[in-house]
Amino acid sequence: MKLGIVGLGLIGGSLGLDARALGHVVVGVSRKLSTCQRAISRGAVDDASVDLSILSTVDIVVLCTPLSDILTTTEKVLPFLPKTSILTDVGSVKAPIVAQMQALLIQANAQNPFVGGHPMAGTANAGIESAIPNLFRGNPYVLTPTSTTPDNAVAVVADLVRSLGANLYKCDPSTHDRAVALISHLPVMVSASLIQVCTAERDPLVRELAIQLASSGFRDTSRVGGGNPELGRLMAEFNTDALLASLHQYRSQLDRIIGQVEAGEWNALEARLVETQRDRPLYLKEHLKE
Ligand code: NAP
Repeated sequence: MKLGIVGLGLIGGSLGLDARALGHVVVGVSRKLSTCQRAISRGAVDDASVDLSILSTVDIVVLCTPLSDILTTTEKVLPFLPKTSILTDVGSVKAPIVAQMQALLIQANAQNPFVGGHPMAGTANAGIESAIPNLFRGNPYVLTPTSTTPDNAVAVVADLVRSLGANLYKCDPSTHDRAVALISHLPVMVSASLIQVCTAERDPLVRELAIQLASSGFRDTSRVGGGNPELGRLMAEFNTDALLASLHQYRSQLDRIIGQVEAGEWNALEARLVETQRDRPLYLKEHLKE
């Protein structure tokens, strides 16, 4: 199969490394020529260019630009694609992308099917230098077909996802967005707030000692708050309602903890922590396929 990857950063570059290792021919497009050249030298693509005509013979195009660029990029690449090629994306938010993409394809009178996708995999880094092999292996990868998405296109993208060693899930776009608000977008904001509480400590002696003493617990809890700022902003911008709902839920949980601590309700607090200790493994269990 011949794959086109648009946006050669962490996700696009990592996908290219794996797709080539699987024997696919991979061509890439990125905004900067230097990124295209680096993607070639890193072995993430067979060839890459800022010239969109490089996509003229691909079977699948995977849109791996930032969320804010997925639709405008699609508008630009559409005229260069074979009529039968399948479009898919990797954006972290699905409902607005899927709805606008379907409208765009109808407006452009394009026959190309679109299958929304979201690999639940990443690191704190961005750009082609941060691309790594096997990023998707063992991690969930969600496809969000709608009633109008052709089954054969879903099957082709699903096969690609499985071949990466990812665990395939299918759901509708808005259920996806509400679920990832809870387990992905809310944690970014919570973790960012944690880092800011530490940095805002007024006593320089305490702040300096905190920096010295921070160890594995802080590394775990601050990881996603120290990630790509542009990605965090776009999660909030594109998934506003679901993120706000989860932030309000989180604030209400914090208020209940504050109330228990203020009232010295230590048994109630411990009971809460017994529940969270019991429930955490639910979210970390090995992901079941389909
Ligand atoms: P990234 O490392 O910043 O990569 C995006 C790349 O797209 C950039 O390196 C940039 O390359 C290129 N680009 C930007 N605008 C472009 C345009 N208009 N046309 C062509 N190329 C363009 O970001 P990422 O983390 O890979 O995220 C990419 C997508 O994956 C996003 O939609 C995000 O929601 C999704 N995603 C991210 C994660 C994660 O944890 N990082 C996880 C799952 C899904 P140049 O150097 O050429 O400018």
